[in-house]
Amino acid sequence: MIVAAVAVCVPAAWWLAQRIGSRIVTVTQPTEGISRTLAAERAANIRSVRYALALNIPLEKKDPVRGTLVIRLVLNDRAPLIIDFAQPAENVSSIEANGQSVAIRSNHGHLVVPAESLTRGENVVEIAFTAGDDALNRHDEFLYSLFVPARASQTFPCFDQPDIKGSLSLTLDIPAAWVAVSNAPEIDRETSDARTRLRFGETPALPTYLFGFAAGIFSIERAERSGRTFHMYHRETDAGKVAANRDIIFDQHQQAIEWLETYTDRKYPFQKLDFVLLPAFQFGGMEHAGAIFYNAPRLLLEKTATQNEHLTRANLIAHETSHMWFGDLVTMKWFDDVWLKEVFANFMAAKIVNPAFPDINHELRFFLQHYPSAYDVDRTAGTNPIRQPLENLKDAGSLYGPIIYLKAPIVMRQLEQMLGADELRDGLREYLRRFAFANATWPELIEMLDRRTGEDLAAWSRTWVEEPGRPTIAVKLEANAGKVSRVVLTQSDARGRSLQWTQQLHVALGYEHGARITAVSMDAPSVEVPRVADLPLPNYILANGDGLGYGLFMLDDRSRQFFLNHLDEIGDGLTRGVAWVTLWDDMLEGRTEPRQMLELARRTLPQEREELNIERILADVHAVFWRYLSDAERASTAAALEQTLRSGITQAPTTSLKSAYFSAFRRTVTTPDGVAYLERVWRGQETIEGLTFAENDFIEMAQELALRTAPGTEAILAEQHTRITNPDRKARFAFVLPALSTDAQTRDAFFASLARAEHRAQERWVADGLRFVNHPLRRPHAERYVRPSLEMLREIQRTGDIFFPLDWTAAVLGGHNSPAAAQTVSAFLAAQKDYPPRLRQVIEQSADQLFRAASRN
Ligand SMILES: [Zn+2]
Repeated sequence: MIVAAVAVCVPAAWWLAQRIGSRIVTVTQPTEGISRTLAAERAANIRSVRYALALNIPLEKKDPVRGTLVIRLVLNDRAPLIIDFAQPAENVSSIEANGQSVAIRSNHGHLVVPAESLTRGENVVEIAFTAGDDALNRHDEFLYSLFVPARASQTFPCFDQPDIKGSLSLTLDIPAAWVAVSNAPEIDRETSDARTRLRFGETPALPTYLFGFAAGIFSIERAERSGRTFHMYHRETDAGKVAANRDIIFDQHQQAIEWLETYTDRKYPFQKLDFVLLPAFQFGGMEHAGAIFYNAPRLLLEKTATQNEHLTRANLIAHETSHMWFGDLVTMKWFDDVWLKEVFANFMAAKIVNPAFPDINHELRFFLQHYPSAYDVDRTAGTNPIRQPLENLKDAGSLYGPIIYLKAPIVMRQLEQMLGADELRDGLREYLRRFAFANATWPELIEMLDRRTGEDLAAWSRTWVEEPGRPTIAVKLEANAGKVSRVVLTQSDARGRSLQWTQQLHVALGYEHGARITAVSMDAPSVEVPRVADLPLPNYILANGDGLGYGLFMLDDRSRQFFLNHLDEIGDGLTRGVAWVTLWDDMLEGRTEPRQMLELARRTLPQEREELNIERILADVHAVFWRYLSDAERASTAAALEQTLRSGITQAPTTSLKSAYFSAFRRTVTTPDGVAYLERVWRGQETIEGLTFAENDFIEMAQELALRTAPGTEAILAEQHTRITNPDRKARFAFVLPALSTDAQTRDAFFASLARAEHRAQERWVADGLRFVNHPLRRPHAERYVRPSLEMLREIQRTGDIFFPLDWTAAVLGGHNSPAAAQTVSAFLAAQKDYPPRLRQVIEQSADQLFRAASRN
């Protein structure tokens, strides 16, 4: 088997094509990261990989982690072996191949074992090394690995690409006071005075990005569910909070497993399932096979948690559990298909969670959870297709974002509609059978599904999956003698590609006593809605009447006026939600005034009974208040808005709704009366019936008070710092304190400190701090941070985890709305000639609302 040579690279002398027997085997010289070419060559030549990895973890985080590794593998051909290890050559102390010592050759983050040390068939390579700390998230009392997308090779030598799966046998030597957890169950331990040596069993074949371990001082909760034992590792010190949450966390994992076993017709694929709750974990969760890592606050909910936070937790658990089948059992071949595991996880999560929340309007929930945030990216100049080409895994982090997490499930629902739910399920069962413990591409799945339908799925996929953006759909009503004569829908492509998005729409014609819904297949540039001639003129027409269609739905004047004046009169909660989101788009397109949206929110909130709609409206109120109103408009509406929110707190029938109103109030309060009230609540001088606050709530109140420069701000912050009992929350608060300071020089110093990578290690803390220094109330001073933040972005991408570039830019630009700030971003983009296209997209996505708001100011 021969792998392609790349003409442009100039191989080093020892690297040249090697004559082996009668054949020439040429291997591409490795470059930084893992190129597609290198990955393809290796995947074709390497199989049956087994890693035996032993790591010695010292008590002090400044001391290095040393390791030994034995890789067993089969080579189809005798060719140089390129092993990824993104550390300097000094970190490797020895390499042996098949029992013989091999000179250490390091090249652009890869170790190279020459062909003459290897043999066709079975090989054993042994390496002694010092691990890099970059992907180990080392803290004083604990550490955890986070290898996605290709960071395992920063810790130990491996084939760090998704389609070379290998089994892992891990041994961890840890301080005796620590515990540890990894993918496989512990099978053996030896304890001496100060150290414990733990051996974990051998995992099934996994890609390196799914290897995971955590070690440190953790409490362990253990539970049995249906014969399965779960362990939950955590560092929460509030025993009441753990007690209030633990059972439901175990229950929801077990329920998700049972549901997935039935749906996939396949047993849970790994030996066990444990979970690790990490303070300030970079993501919501990470699906390491058999050992899911979570961001602790997402699972350990406060008493004040909203209905949405409860749903979001259930969804997160179901999402990560679904990955055990979708992503972990069957893995994408390359990260261009990373969206596929995410879409399945989200898609399954929605199906799993729904039965557990029978009181929820799930159609509305799906709509509100996915569409507004997908639109927030898809309307921008920087939007991306669901499936994105990727040449090197070092850029894989930039693929992640709302299009993958939120637009893709919308598209998957369309696929389910086209195929039928049973056909899709059966197709997925076939897919899991065929590719179990192996890899698959999206085209391979589409081909399998295409055989099950008469529709042209490949053509559908080209527009919805391979292209960015959304259709603009306009409604034209023709009337005659006070009756409807025709309703015509047209679709157009704002990006000028003349694309046509085929989809099923349900058009609502709204009347006093309800809406008349008509199905329309939007399979042409212009389509007439059938069976509407001679109907009375409707109050409104909503082309996306059932919330399933995807696009920019343009309102006609009549419908816009009706929604702005009578939204609360619409009887159906889903229709009200869809109408609100459509109006929001209308505002961003410059057709509805921001102050009209705020007025509508104030009028409609007291009438709205759907908690999901209330939470959506409250989120948009925050955005419109801080971003889209002029300073004068904000000042003139503040008191009335606060009154609406405070009466919401008092009158809301549930704790979660009270909490939603209170947090909206806390985030938008500006009047002296309102701020004084917030301070009294923070001081405990004022209580709210039905709301009990936890440590985090008080922290957030203190932060908001500081941003408002309430009298005695520094004393409030100091007192809050003293009040915090949990060590992880205390450390975070100490980190963001300077960002909350009323002293501009202290904030400048905080911002300047972020230039050093070690100050950015806690990415969530950094994003919080950036949000504080760029808060709308600090705008005039904060404009100076915009340009240097953008200048640092390449470095941020290089040193940070996958979501950090987007979080970084969103945290900085989210506070701004001035033409000057917009101009800074535009000038930066214009001046960068060879800027990485994906990072440009990140900036364009984060700056879109800044541009829109600035064009009004
Ligand atoms: Zn996921």
